[in-house]
Amino acid sequence: MAKLHHLGFPRIGNKRQLKFALEKFWGGELSEQQLQTTAADLRQQNWRDQQDLALDLYTAGDFSLYDQVLDASFLVGNIPQRAKQSGQDNSLDNYFRVARGRSQSQECCAGSHGHSGESQAGEMTKWFNTNYHYIVPEFDAQTTFSLNAEQLLLQIEELQQINKNVKPVIIGPVTYLWLGKEKDDSQKLALLPKLLEVYSELLALLAEKNITWVQIDEPVLVLEIPTQWQEALQSSYNKLGQSKVKLLLTTYFGELKNNLKLACELPVAGLHLDAVNAPHEIDLAIAYLGTDKILSLGIINACNIWKTDLNQTLNQLLPIHQKLQDKLWLAPSSSLLHVPIDLDNEQKLDYEVKSWLAFAVQKLQELSLIGRALNEGLASVEAAFTYNKLCIESRRQSQRVHKQNIKSKVLNITPELGQRKQNITQREALQQSYLNLPSYPTTTIGSFPQTSDIRQLRQAKRLGDINEEQYKKSIKESIKFCINEQDELGLDVLVHGEAERNDMVEYFGELLDGFVFTQFAWVQSYGSRCVKPPILFGDVSRPKAMTVEWSSYAQSLTEKKVKGMLTGPVTILNWSFVRDDQPLKTTCMQIALAIREEVLDLEKAGINIIQIDEAALREKLPLRRSQWQQYLNWAISAFRVCANGVDDKTQIHTHMCYSEFNDIIKAIAQMDADVITIETSRSDMELLDVFEEFSYPNGIGPGVYDIHSPNIPDVERMVSLMKKAALRIPAEQLWVNPDCGLKTRRWEEVKPALLNMVTAAKKLRAS
Ligand code: GLN
Ligand code: ZN
Repeated sequence: MAKLHHLGFPRIGNKRQLKFALEKFWGGELSEQQLQTTAADLRQQNWRDQQDLALDLYTAGDFSLYDQVLDASFLVGNIPQRAKQSGQDNSLDNYFRVARGRSQSQECCAGSHGHSGESQAGEMTKWFNTNYHYIVPEFDAQTTFSLNAEQLLLQIEELQQINKNVKPVIIGPVTYLWLGKEKDDSQKLALLPKLLEVYSELLALLAEKNITWVQIDEPVLVLEIPTQWQEALQSSYNKLGQSKVKLLLTTYFGELKNNLKLACELPVAGLHLDAVNAPHEIDLAIAYLGTDKILSLGIINACNIWKTDLNQTLNQLLPIHQKLQDKLWLAPSSSLLHVPIDLDNEQKLDYEVKSWLAFAVQKLQELSLIGRALNEGLASVEAAFTYNKLCIESRRQSQRVHKQNIKSKVLNITPELGQRKQNITQREALQQSYLNLPSYPTTTIGSFPQTSDIRQLRQAKRLGDINEEQYKKSIKESIKFCINEQDELGLDVLVHGEAERNDMVEYFGELLDGFVFTQFAWVQSYGSRCVKPPILFGDVSRPKAMTVEWSSYAQSLTEKKVKGMLTGPVTILNWSFVRDDQPLKTTCMQIALAIREEVLDLEKAGINIIQIDEAALREKLPLRRSQWQQYLNWAISAFRVCANGVDDKTQIHTHMCYSEFNDIIKAIAQMDADVITIETSRSDMELLDVFEEFSYPNGIGPGVYDIHSPNIPDVERMVSLMKKAALRIPAEQLWVNPDCGLKTRRWEEVKPALLNMVTAAKKLRAS
């Protein structure tokens, strides 16, 4: 009999209850007791969502008030010194002190997407290749560890009251150290023996609590790790493998490749493989594992929202099950944290598209069906399998998904489509001859403050309280206001302000064909922050112009140049739930062609400067560096296709919300945008070091105004930042602009800050 389990369940609640409770708690409206009650209720609800599925093991410890990596830091008593305030190291107060420096200061640029970066509290960064962000553990030579299992035990005991088969989940010691901030590997690894003491103590304690199986996550195994880290895995599990509990070592998000043998031979009781991402490693794993160990296969994709093809999966599993029998376990590929909770909440979703989808609850139902088909025979679940087949077929054949004309357009893309006619130096001269910009030209990144009036306006339109005409009139008023303000401030290149957009991806998704939107399909981005990505289900096309009316109107109001403002294909792709039935590259090219049409329409309408944001360009870089180039090749060609069809006179800008470019600078240069604006103000321009070695010929606007903070930067600071930039990049190439869009800021902050920025540019020109 194959056994069923999962690696973790979403914890925010199907109506984002955790988010709202946290925010009330932070705002002083909820007591700690009330917050904990909400948390316990959510765990109960998660349990109710699972109870009818007859899983063999129930997972405990997958709930977190903020972040599972931060929980791991508290579990092993690794709390940064500065956060220990109340004498009680493990207090909730200290927990949020480490967690939240970030969320107070970091109102993310686009308003809804997490970004990596630093803050007073714990630093935050991307969890492997997902859009989840964790709090980076901190280590130094003095770091000590001590076990603090209270929170974990609470979750275990709670679940044990309902079901005896409880499997706690913890992050493995090697992954935990790997994730830490300290760059020096040997320093981190020097901490391993001390850390293992705490893990041994924990496992012994769990054995006392009648725990048989412990899930221990070591996703480092899917990365290209140096030998000393492989050795660390070996020595760790030599030690932990001796404990009284059985260890299920879990890997996910990719193939194990040269770590496969190591992982299979570690002295643990079982191994979990991501069979969605590494199906061809199954056979080898079976051979390496020997006859005693459990093989858990992650057969349901835990990172996308599509229905599993149950019949196909069953066929794939039948021979494996034959061979392994009760040594075979089945689960989703990773934690379900990365998908929304329950499709049943979506009462307004297009019925047909809905029939192609599965969220966390439905994915566990699929798991349960496959388990029954294997254990009790297909007849026991015949109806469900037949229905699944219908859904899979309907998606495969749907004319809403597959549009031949779009597919052939992609097939007909030639390199010329992404090629400007002249090189950057020639273009620069040409553009300058009629743009007539001063040196150190000033501009902004696109959005201006999204006041409550603007938000109410969009809501009124959504609810049908105002008609299209009234809506347009009001948006135009806001554009007019925005243009007047910029004219008065003396900026050189103006923007319309993006009042019509609540989100830089959703806005375009709603106007393009091929997307649907949900009401409640939230996933956690970090802490209390959730995102609701559009669902990209079909071939993408642009029925009509999306931004031309706004940009041309803005241009009609001023003598200055107005920059058209678009979101790029890679960002639209990376911030959506994307179809899994064709290569990402193909989907990205379809978006690129649609955005290209918009670029050309803007140009036709007399917009001479067009910015195409690629805020999320890095987001889907593969976990293994050896695969980066492949990704970058198509990502960069998609950008080129969308941007480079314009006349050489038209100036293309792009924007990225970070400046960790060192490793991809060549790819960035290949985009061949005339100007790129990036985030740099916090790093004191040090992030521009890469430009000392790599001569980047195009224009660069290194952000001088940190828009994540309410502080108003003064003139001198901005002048000195730009002077630092000029040490690395020739002054003729420099632009002066904020780090990112201004939508989360208030006019009272933005006006003096931009006025200072304009003054700084004038000073720079004079010197
Ligand atoms: N143009 C967008 C804005 O200003 C860019 C946002 C982003 O880079 N995340 O809001
Ligand atoms: Zn940005």
